[in-house]
Amino acid sequence: MHLRIFSAIVIFTICYFHSYSQQKIKHVILIGVDGMGAYVFKKTHLPVMQSMMKNGSWSLEARSVLPSSSAANWASMNMGAGPELHGFTTWGSKTPDMPSRILDEYGMFPSIAGLLRKSRPLSEIGFIYEWDGIGYLFPKAAVNKDLNCDGDIAITNAVVDYIENKKPDFLFVHLHDVDSVGHNAGHDTPEYYAAVERTDAHIGKILKSIARAGIEDETLVLVTADHGGVKKGHGGTSMEEMQIPWIVIGPGIRKNHKIQESIMTFDTAATIAAVLKLNAPQVWIGRPVTSIFRN
Ligand SMILES: [Zn+2]
Repeated sequence: MHLRIFSAIVIFTICYFHSYSQQKIKHVILIGVDGMGAYVFKKTHLPVMQSMMKNGSWSLEARSVLPSSSAANWASMNMGAGPELHGFTTWGSKTPDMPSRILDEYGMFPSIAGLLRKSRPLSEIGFIYEWDGIGYLFPKAAVNKDLNCDGDIAITNAVVDYIENKKPDFLFVHLHDVDSVGHNAGHDTPEYYAAVERTDAHIGKILKSIARAGIEDETLVLVTADHGGVKKGHGGTSMEEMQIPWIVIGPGIRKNHKIQESIMTFDTAATIAAVLKLNAPQVWIGRPVTSIFRN
C-alpha cells in the first residue's frame, strides 16, 4: 500500500516536472540562416550549432517548399502553409502572386506574429533581418521592432541588444551572409563554408545574450534555413537546395534527439504556435513537431 502511494507520488512528480518545463517557455527566438543547406553539417565543424544539436532536437532532412527560393519559404516558415495557400510563390514576392486563401485582421495570410499579437496584445514581437524582402512577409502593425540592417554583424549586434533590453516573446532573426557568398563564390566552396562558420559564431553570440538576459531557462531557440543551394543558385529540386537544418533547444525539449518525423518549413510555424499556446488557424497545414517534447 505504502509502495503504491510512493509510486503514485513519483509518477505525479515526474509528469508534473515534464509538463512544467514545457509550460516554462515564454520566449521563442527563430533564427533563419539564408541559404544554409543541411549538407554543410557533413562538410565543416560548426561548434555552436553542433552543441545545440547535442543539447536539443534536430533534423538535417527538413524540407523547403517549392520553389526552393527565399520569399516563398520565409513566408511558409512564418505562415504555417505553403505558397499554394499564402500566395507568395517566388524568390522575391512582395505581395501574394495569387490571392491568399484567407486574410487576417492585418490584411495578410495568418502568421505567428499576427496570432501572438491577437492572443496576447502586450507581447514584445520583433523582426530583425538583413534582406529587405523579409519586410513584406509579416504584418508590420503586429510587431514592436521592425529592423532591416546591413550585414550580419550589424544584425547580430541589434539582436543581442534587443534580447537583453526587451526580452522578446517572439523574435525572428534573418542572417544573410551564407546566401550572399553562395550566390557569389558558389555553394559548397571554401568561401561558403567560411561564411557558415562566421554565422555559427553569430548564433553563439545570440545564445550568450539570451543567457545574459536571464531568460535561458524559459526560451526556445530554433535555427533553420529557407533553402540550400547548388553552384551559384537555388530554386530547383536537388536535395542540396531542398534539405535544410532544423535545430531546436529549450526547456522541456529532448536533448541529443535526432528527429525522425518529416518536417516541412511550414511545420516551423505550427511548432512555435504550439509552444506559445496559440490556436493554429484551420487554413494552416503545418503540424507541430511533437517528438521534440520530453515525456
Ligand atoms: Zn534565401
